[in-house]
Amino acid sequence: MIPFIFYTLAALKAIFFIWFGIVSMLEKEKRATQISFALAITTPLPFLAASFLPINIGANILLILLALCIIAVVLFFIPLKKIKPTNETSDFQIDERDTMFSRLELTRYPNRSQQYYAENPQHLKLDEQWQKKPGLMNPSSAMYEAKAFAAADASFEVICALRNKVVPPVADNKKNISPEEASAFITKWAKKLGAVDVVFCKLQKQHFYSTRGRGNVYGKAVKNTQQYGIAITVEMNKDYLATGPSAPTLMESAQQYLNSGTIALQLAYFIANMGYSARAHIDGNYEVVCPLVARDAGLGEIGRMGLLMTTGLGPRVRIAVVTTDIPLIPTERKIDTSVDDFCGICKKCADVCPSQAIPKEAKRNINGVQRWQINQEKCFGYWCVSGTDCGRCMSVCPYSHPNNLLHNMVRWGINKSWLFRRVALWLDDFFYGRKPKVKKLDLG
Ligand code: SF4
Ligand code: SF4
Repeated sequence: MIPFIFYTLAALKAIFFIWFGIVSMLEKEKRATQISFALAITTPLPFLAASFLPINIGANILLILLALCIIAVVLFFIPLKKIKPTNETSDFQIDERDTMFSRLELTRYPNRSQQYYAENPQHLKLDEQWQKKPGLMNPSSAMYEAKAFAAADASFEVICALRNKVVPPVADNKKNISPEEASAFITKWAKKLGAVDVVFCKLQKQHFYSTRGRGNVYGKAVKNTQQYGIAITVEMNKDYLATGPSAPTLMESAQQYLNSGTIALQLAYFIANMGYSARAHIDGNYEVVCPLVARDAGLGEIGRMGLLMTTGLGPRVRIAVVTTDIPLIPTERKIDTSVDDFCGICKKCADVCPSQAIPKEAKRNINGVQRWQINQEKCFGYWCVSGTDCGRCMSVCPYSHPNNLLHNMVRWGINKSWLFRRVALWLDDFFYGRKPKVKKLDLG
């Protein structure tokens, strides 16, 4: 009987690591594949050796193993430490004119530029530095690749053509629809259109920019006239993102700005056809800060790299928003302090960032909110060198692994247990590397 238990344990170990290896192979994770198959061969050996021991020694070893398993279960599935949520109550509104894409546009408007830097002299020196670099999507940038840049540009051209279509005309006859019905229909349809998640929230002042910063609405105050925000996410392809900061990551980024934008537009036009007002917020024409709307609708928490860490895909998503007055049922937000704790110890994004734009320190108070803030000038400065929007931080994040059983088991443990988070980080470094290699992709 006792040798049989050891054989079974050996087989279970081998099966688990073979499964891990096959999943890693399908995910094109070379290092994780090699380690898993090596462990599938080596870790069952002690159990096989134990099966040859005298029965009484074998029984004692089994008892010790059982005790260790019970201790592990207790430690891993009990939270151990309660993490306090940090303060997020500020109603501070971001001025869109301070964002990097608005500051990039200033180079085309000398009068605006003069006024902006007269009012914000602290940005002048920093901006002069990245302005000297080749620039985003520039043929003389470091990661230039003709086909990939042309493909990304094709997606951006289409987005550009859609930017002035974000406010659809509202049909005269308003159709009756309950909040339950509207929420269910929008969720189902948006998912059919390709959204991964669809969530709703009551809009608050801080979800909106205070002032517009781009195009012909530059300098206009943003007025909130709508009650609800619908946040949708689309997945960014892991293989393309893993090439970041090389050119394919730019292709994927542009593609998903377009995909999320078209879904938002379709939702906005549907709502307007039903007789309710709606506005889509898509790349280059936002009145809201999409990650804040998505966070308050319960989609995730803001992590160290300043992006929304969604439950199933971490930061590996693009977000678009529709603001509307169609009645909706807000999705409940449950603050997840495990993200704060995990980002607190992880710092993988900060370690790999080529421009060292991601802070390694603890959160600090910024405009009344405890948060991490990346150095946007350093990040954007690197984009102007590479010519792409990099995405290296997103691709290495342990939350970015695919949404499958293996990684969801780890996500579950990370969410539940203080100790599991520490072990999971160690395992992530062990299987995928502390600084995972930039991958190559054959674009054909
Ligand atoms: S890489 Fe680590 S520290 Fe950075 S956002 Fe992801 S979990 Fe947080
Ligand atoms: S913060 Fe910017 S430069 Fe740094 S890894 Fe992320 S995208 Fe790249």
